[in-house]
Amino acid sequence: MKPPLPEFRPGTVTLVGAGPGDPELLTLKAVRAIGAATVLLVDDLVNDAVLEHANPNARIVHVGKRGGCKSTPQAFIDKLMLMAAREGEVVVRLKGGDPFVFGRGGEEIEHLQAEGIGVQVVNGITAGLAAVTALGVPLTHRDHAHGVVFITGHAKPGDAGTDWRALAATARDAKLTLVIYMGISGAAHIQQALLDGLHADTPLAIIQHATLAHQREAVTTLGDMLHTIEREGLGSPAVIVVGDVLRGVAAAHADLVRAA
Ligand code: SAH
Repeated sequence: MKPPLPEFRPGTVTLVGAGPGDPELLTLKAVRAIGAATVLLVDDLVNDAVLEHANPNARIVHVGKRGGCKSTPQAFIDKLMLMAAREGEVVVRLKGGDPFVFGRGGEEIEHLQAEGIGVQVVNGITAGLAAVTALGVPLTHRDHAHGVVFITGHAKPGDAGTDWRALAATARDAKLTLVIYMGISGAAHIQQALLDGLHADTPLAIIQHATLAHQREAVTTLGDMLHTIEREGLGSPAVIVVGDVLRGVAAAHADLVRAA
């Protein structure tokens, strides 16, 4: 085991992106941070295989929802990080994908910094990027997509949420690929609203457990999205991708579901 590098100092917290699932998609820096940690706080979407890089003496705490249990409340996680840092531990907070993409990394950093704790972030490959690549499709294409929108289908309670109708019109006019995280439970509403601005035959893909051995995907159309999710029993964690970059794969797959 390499000795801890100076940047992973006792008394500090490093938020580390563990990537979408495939442990080979970890960055070298993430591997070093995991190896340097004396305490690891691990989210539920993190593949346990990445813990192979941890020091055998490190304390590993799973703070996510597994097996239907309620997830550990955020306030408690914040407190655990703070306590471990104050005890002089090298704290690594492992998060699925990238810590700053729907990972509440921003909130955790603010909390730690307010308490005077040194924090740094190691990027990870976000699920939306990896999921689209897993289909062999680019997120942008000079002919079909001039940009990408990563968007959540699950707004904070009390938040008005996304104006999907406006987004659909923008995606159409500006040629944007939409990558929707946490969109399965709100799929009916999202589909209906997107249909206001996008054609029913707009290609759409749902990718569940992207980059893992049990990845499943369905390539369909916006008009058939909900039906496809229900018929194929697709569930969380999944991303929904909408846009013309999928045209090639849509033609080839024509509503086909493959179980890896
Ligand atoms: N920070 C994470 C996202 C956390 S939000 C990242 O950058 O990837 C959790 C959502 O991410 C899930 O509901 C799902 O929409 C998506 N997600 C995470 N891992 C995934 C995977 N392996 N396959 C498909 N979607 C995934």
